Amino acid sequence: MKKKIINLVIALVIVLFVNLMGESPETENSYNDVSNFKEGSNLEVHFIDVGQADSILIKSGTESMLIDAGNNADGDLVVNYLKEQEISDLKFVIGTHPHEDHIGGLDDVIDNFNIATIIMPNVMHTTKTFEDVLDSINNKGLKINSPKVGTTYDLNGASVLILAPNSEEYKELNNYSVVVKLTHGENSFLFTGDAEALSENEMMENNIGVLDSDILKIGHHGSITSTSGEFLDAVNPKYAIISLGKDNDYGHPHKEIIELLEENEIEILRTDKMGTIVATSDGTILDLYTVR
Ligand SMILES: [Zn+2]
Repeated sequence: MKKKIINLVIALVIVLFVNLMGESPETENSYNDVSNFKEGSNLEVHFIDVGQADSILIKSGTESMLIDAGNNADGDLVVNYLKEQEISDLKFVIGTHPHEDHIGGLDDVIDNFNIATIIMPNVMHTTKTFEDVLDSINNKGLKINSPKVGTTYDLNGASVLILAPNSEEYKELNNYSVVVKLTHGENSFLFTGDAEALSENEMMENNIGVLDSDILKIGHHGSITSTSGEFLDAVNPKYAIISLGKDNDYGHPHKEIIELLEENEIEILRTDKMGTIVATSDGTILDLYTVR
């Protein structure tokens, strides 16, 4: 009897998910990470401290986007952070992949803000957390957009280029992570979700030349499963941001990743040690600071 109920729940989630998958919006540019940079425009990237989870707010002048929203318990924190930033509209919301530490607070975000475009990978997960996100999307009458590698979105002159996922099916849910490169003038950021080495290899095969970024959000909270030496060479960042919680259950960041970053003389910034980290860009100069 118990099995039947679970099967029914799974079936309902599938029906809801399939109904919510919309058509991908028009591609504006293909494989183009050069932004329509506006002189004098300012960009802010907030790596919000949500403990052992990810949530990144990007403000480009009057337009904003959010990548992930922390764990279930972080919903209010993320909503309040965005409200303090006087945000009421989000042009883009990306749920990188269906794990709780990425989409946990997404239902609260969807309930509280006007959202134009939601991007989530074409994979479902039979958890209450995932179901809650689908319910919120459904209640708002929104559709999920599948990430298409090579698609560029405009965020008030900054460009958001989709780089992964590059396959239809993966064994590991982490590898469905939507990876995007944000470019603002001469400054660039790579946000990797929890993409693992397999996805990193696909990106290197498919996107030679465009991975290079000033700031790399280290994949999977500094786990050894991500950030291969080859990938780090291809991105060649000046700064590495690791989003993670103090004394987490996974031993993140793994010491091999810290050693790799140190060997490459990349400056490491960690939310478990520094709290929320904000990067600003005027198109030429990058500044980094912390918020307590
Ligand atoms: Zn994660």
